[in-house]
Amino acid sequence: MHQESLSLLLTLIEKKQALLSQVFYRWGKGSALFIIRICFKQISVYNTLGRRKDQINGRTTCYMCEQANTTPEHVPPKCIFPEVKDLGIDYRKSLITVPSCDAHNLRKSKDDEYLMFVLTCSITNNEAAMKQIETKILRAWRRNSRLKELLLRINRPIIAKGKSTLAFKVDIGRVNRSLDWIARGLYYNQYEKKWSAKLRIESPAMLFLEGKDALKSNKILNHMGVAVNHALSDLPKIGENPDIFWYQMLHNSPGELLINMMFFGGLQVFAFNKSGMA
Ligand SMILES: [Zn+2]
Repeated sequence: MHQESLSLLLTLIEKKQALLSQVFYRWGKGSALFIIRICFKQISVYNTLGRRKDQINGRTTCYMCEQANTTPEHVPPKCIFPEVKDLGIDYRKSLITVPSCDAHNLRKSKDDEYLMFVLTCSITNNEAAMKQIETKILRAWRRNSRLKELLLRINRPIIAKGKSTLAFKVDIGRVNRSLDWIARGLYYNQYEKKWSAKLRIESPAMLFLEGKDALKSNKILNHMGVAVNHALSDLPKIGENPDIFWYQMLHNSPGELLINMMFFGGLQVFAFNKSGMA
């Protein structure tokens, strides 16, 4: 099965034909699947993690810790937002930044591109994501051996929405950590203080395909997504580039927090403190 999937993928890449595929992500004890699509075309060298090192007011501390603020950090990462040169539209209007220390900036930078890949490729996404896949994702894929490795983990052909496609594993722990940091960054940006309690990260876009509780888990996640949308329906959707990202935040009491995030018009992720969902 591995061989078949891989050879099919490589054949398609070689031909440089557009490939539309839905890809599963799995993690943890069971198998969680996150359906994505990939499209391969021309590729060139690209560096998505070029970061400024602006020295800003040293009196503030990092959004994640008590170290000195040395670098403004984008939340979500800037690389998620398409570039004008690729889509012909300015999707980087008024991006949110928070103060960060060197350590958190460095660690986050390492995960940003991976997160970009995962978020952009969801089958739930809009046309902007598709164009981002055809441009930036492909450049990154060609340049970044870790992304290649990720794709080579494709492990099964599947049928999704009536079409044959491929599946591969994802490091969901890593993705969730990045999403956790985004949620904390959004909280900091809104309230100018740190969220230090735990956050749970969930996404209805993630499906379990294996394990005896797979269907049940998928239903629960789906219901949670609907419940979150309903609970926050009166709140404004914040974000200057809503085709790429917007969020809502519910924070009525000190210990309760619920952040609803939407990437590329269809990939919902929510972050909450447990008491916030009780
Ligand atoms: Zn820090």
